[in-house]
Amino acid sequence: MTQPAHRKLSGRVVVATHNSGKLREMNELLAPYGIEAVSAGELGLGEPDETGLTFLANAELKARAAAQAANLPAFADDSGLCVDALGGDPGIYSARWAREAGDFPAAMANVHELMQAKGAVSATERRAHFVSALAIVWPDGHLEQFEGKVFGTIVWPPRGEKGFGYDPFFQPDGHARTFGEMSSQEKHGIPADGSQALSHRARAFQTLAKACLA
Ligand code: IMP
Repeated sequence: MTQPAHRKLSGRVVVATHNSGKLREMNELLAPYGIEAVSAGELGLGEPDETGLTFLANAELKARAAAQAANLPAFADDSGLCVDALGGDPGIYSARWAREAGDFPAAMANVHELMQAKGAVSATERRAHFVSALAIVWPDGHLEQFEGKVFGTIVWPPRGEKGFGYDPFFQPDGHARTFGEMSSQEKHGIPADGSQALSHRARAFQTLAKACLA
């Protein structure tokens, strides 16, 4: 059976995030495709409550709210850090954990302490992955969605000043540096030959680009 065709994205699109680190990365990923991206912040759009129980549900909910409010196609990411020793936490609550801790250094210290309390000390016990769910919703309600993951190890102490959020805390497999020590180009890690990108967001975006931007 043939799969239904994906809808192509063109012209102006709202990037439905108020997170400046994510906005920068999403704009960098969209830029080569001639998409004119405006942010939810620039349009004065509010932020819906993230009541979904999965990354995909929350990405859809954010894109749907922005598409309706702006009457434009809207592009949203829901993402987070899942730590094996903590049963996948902070996961979809990654932003909330940081808000409640006060800032990202405090949130990373909190995750590190919880991991230590579970005896997750060696590199093999400190496994984690980042997830990015991307959704595009059009004003007529049509939805396209994609997910990307990157696996690696939680490091302590955090290293690097680049990136955002939990980046200094996460070293992707096959690399000796954390995301916090990489430029955004290295973190996206998009190879010219079309093979797999590095970051969770760039991996999700590669699938989206093949389906909706080609
Ligand atoms: P969201 O806005 O609810 O999707 O929140 C995602 C949370 O995960 C935020 O706290 C981000 O800082 C964190 N996060 C998502 N992607 C990344 C990343 O690429 N690097 C570091 N932290 C990230």
